[in-house]
Amino acid sequence: YISEVIEPHKVEQIIDYIDNSDKIVITTHISPDGDAIGSSLALYHFIKNRGKNVMIIVPNSFPYFLKWMDGANNIEIFEYNPSAGAKILSNADLIFSLDYNILKRAGEMSTVLETSKAKKIMIDHHPFPGEDFDIIVSKPHISSTSELIFRFIYQAGEYSEMTKAEAESIYCGMMTDTGGFTYNSADPEIYEIISMILRKDIDKDAIYSKVFNNYSEERFRLLGFTLSQRMEVYHDKHAALLYLSNEDQSQFRYSKGDTEGFVNYPLSIKGIIFSTFIREEEGMVKISFRSQKSFRCNEFASEFFNGGGHVNASGGEFQGSLEEALKIYSEGLEKYKERLIMAVNED
Ligand code: 5GP
Ligand code: MN
Repeated sequence: YISEVIEPHKVEQIIDYIDNSDKIVITTHISPDGDAIGSSLALYHFIKNRGKNVMIIVPNSFPYFLKWMDGANNIEIFEYNPSAGAKILSNADLIFSLDYNILKRAGEMSTVLETSKAKKIMIDHHPFPGEDFDIIVSKPHISSTSELIFRFIYQAGEYSEMTKAEAESIYCGMMTDTGGFTYNSADPEIYEIISMILRKDIDKDAIYSKVFNNYSEERFRLLGFTLSQRMEVYHDKHAALLYLSNEDQSQFRYSKGDTEGFVNYPLSIKGIIFSTFIREEEGMVKISFRSQKSFRCNEFASEFFNGGGHVNASGGEFQGSLEEALKIYSEGLEKYKERLIMAVNED
């Protein structure tokens, strides 16, 4: 049994918008992950199969281990040709925003999105949705945007027409946003959906391997280096920190996506419920947070690093040096110490 998570009138409205638009563009957030790419491609195939003209534009490039997906080669990268991308967005009559809650998360693309006259539809699962949209489907309790795309297609009565390509993309997004169904995945309906997706003849184990067993040797060695040389554990605060400088990364020939998942490892240490990964990038510092129990890492992200996200998975950015970011982190940790101890001692 699959419940009507999306309001039925919104499903109808979205179908109506699709059928009455000629130039449809799907967008997603900066540094797209498996859910961003998976949900975008699933919707892309769905719209294309209705005979409609549709494109995907993402703000910047996405990891190599997502490129196997059907249609991935047709995804436009805004950063590579901003003026062409801006033209497509301004000429669109319908724009989807998938897997992000405010236009600002589309990076350089967001100013064009703000001024585009197109109708805008958000489908997303992050808390605190913005308001610059004509239709908002915001479901923070749902595992992934890809799951929401499944639900949209299902509720539209189009499950029987769902293709293998759609099913694969949806599976990939649900799998990556739940760490292979190890967190955020307790809702029984997730497995009802998986069972329906498997009936589309997808190879779930092959999808897992293509995403999680497809890294370079350097990436694996970088992981070893990070855990042995760049990790601090603060047992009294139930927290752990990983950090990498630009130089560390170039020593292991860093490629986009190589550090995906690193931030999860410290949570496997007994008693650690808050993990932070601080990574230097060109001209800025990128921060990822993961937490367990009731400790809300998105509050930490928003208070100290101008970020946000989910309760147990969030991130932020910092314009400054790695050293400054590390200092802010340690001050923040001191301030949140009591909250961490309280969360650990619950239930
Ligand atoms: P990740 O650590 O995988 O990059 O991001 C985890 C989650 O944190 C994302 O799904 C997103 O919700 C959120 N997030 C990451 N970076 C940022 C950021 O710079 N700003 C905001 N608002 N959220 C972020
Ligand atoms: Mn997501």
